[in-house]
Amino acid sequence: MERHQNFGYDTTIIHAGQSPDPTTGALATPIHQTSTFVFENAEQGAARFALEENGYIYTRLGNPTQHSLEEKMAALEKAEAALAVASGMTAIAASFWTICGNGDHIVASDTLYGCTHALLSHSMPKFGIAVTFVDASNLENIRKAIRPNTKVVFIETPSNPTLTIIDIGATAKLAHEHNVKLMVDNTFMSPYCQRPLELGADIVVHSATKYINGHGDVIAGIVLGQKEFINEVRFVGVKDVTGGCISPFNAWLTLRGLKTLGVRMERHCQNALEVAKFLAEHPDVEKVNYPGLPEHPGHELAKRQMSGFGGIISFEVKGGVEVGRKIMNSVKLCLLAVSLGDTETLIQHPASMTHSPIPREERLKAGITDGLIRLSVGLEDPKDIIFDLDQAIKKGSANTLDKPNIKLTF
Ligand code: PLP
Repeated sequence: MERHQNFGYDTTIIHAGQSPDPTTGALATPIHQTSTFVFENAEQGAARFALEENGYIYTRLGNPTQHSLEEKMAALEKAEAALAVASGMTAIAASFWTICGNGDHIVASDTLYGCTHALLSHSMPKFGIAVTFVDASNLENIRKAIRPNTKVVFIETPSNPTLTIIDIGATAKLAHEHNVKLMVDNTFMSPYCQRPLELGADIVVHSATKYINGHGDVIAGIVLGQKEFINEVRFVGVKDVTGGCISPFNAWLTLRGLKTLGVRMERHCQNALEVAKFLAEHPDVEKVNYPGLPEHPGHELAKRQMSGFGGIISFEVKGGVEVGRKIMNSVKLCLLAVSLGDTETLIQHPASMTHSPIPREERLKAGITDGLIRLSVGLEDPKDIIFDLDQAIKKGSANTLDKPNIKLTF
């Protein structure tokens, strides 16, 4: 997408990877809803299989609608190449299975999305791949965990759901000193707010289900990195191992959602900061995790490596898990649902929902307490989100149970 190379980031969000359809002039990228592509002759088919000629073969290996999404994502993450896949879990699993084999070792942060934790703690060892979980916010822990057979360090920053901030640049430097790759799950930030490759990471993965698509109607994933690695993930991790290609329709929806990434992220960040400040001052709230608050231990680092603090908050209420449950059952505008990065504000309970695959002891060690509530702040008017949370917290908090209920009116 040479002609847009020197444009600003918001222009790139809209135009990269997309240009009017050369045959019809259609502005929107067509949905190439096809499983296979017809060759002109047998020689062409053979040349494409031998990767001697560019061109499409079969949608599990590539498709023009997927390609458009990949080009846009590569431009936004400043990556050499991108691969769009069926889900965030496909992006993560296909990357690991491309990098690691029997006898290899992974160092991973101990605060991770529950299914990523399950993949690393249960499935990887079944294939002879060992994993060490560490508190990756302390570099010394990573240094101590690296072994001669370590292939990759894997982190989420901010982490799900504790919002711990990990120094991407310093972790990359440490990993590279040991000839180890750094892979970062950038789902919580999107490239609009954080670009790990620019900070030294080797691989970025996304659950594009979240901010990248942004509208809660798709499951999708993206892997980004150097061309050679992305080719390997495409032709091994996805083609042979997981088979998890993205459907052309889901690629198209993600591409459409992605066009508004800039305006959405600005508003997610603004709304979340307002909500976080409200929660931090609330007498019934014990603790708020949001990197935009000056008291957050990773605030200064977040200011350096992120632009904006994202839309996710987690918090604990006084009275713990029972009060938390009552609060989640009392919201009227916020929706009780897992996932994040949607236009709607979503509230959920990591210990019994997204992070339930992690054994309780490990969960607690990683700071994912029984009473922690995760909030994905949406794009509604912030005063309405705050009003809803306020009435739900009042209802849920044991010491305010006898206060009259506030009724929400629309
Ligand atoms: N990474 C993070 C940080 C997530 O929050 C999630 C899902 O919630 C995933 C990866 C998995 O993505 P998907 O649900 O698209 O497979």
